[in-house]
Amino acid sequence: MRANKRRDTQPELLVRRLLHARGLRYRVDHRVASQTRSRVDVAFTKQRIAVFIDGCFWHSCPEHLHLPRANADYWIPKLARNVERDAEVSTVLRDLGWTVLRFWEHEPAREVADRIIAAVEEARSSSSTVRAPHDAGRGSGSQ
Ligand SMILES: [Zn+2]
Repeated sequence: MRANKRRDTQPELLVRRLLHARGLRYRVDHRVASQTRSRVDVAFTKQRIAVFIDGCFWHSCPEHLHLPRANADYWIPKLARNVERDAEVSTVLRDLGWTVLRFWEHEPAREVADRIIAAVEEARSSSSTVRAPHDAGRGSGSQ
């Protein structure tokens, strides 16, 4: 059986290079949970951000979906199953408290990287402003 997700695809490498250049450190091909066999393409374990760069063909990109004419009986259910599995993986990760970011391989690497960086920075700043429970009432009535 052929693996339907090749590692280190070109779009993914480009995005990773941009992230690395911006000083971000991440895990590649990271297995988050035993509940899912799938791996996260790029994972920020501290911020719990899971990034997937989905291939247009394998993940049925709406802009580039072209079902193979040959062996349609084989491909249509197979590709549909991939989409289902993507949704399942996203659900498992979200249940575990992860933020899931999915991109298409056709999206410009720079835009993808910018959105990832924004998400990581937001997670960093919100975790640094988390208040202790006893501070929760502070600031009320100041309106
Ligand atoms: Zn596409």
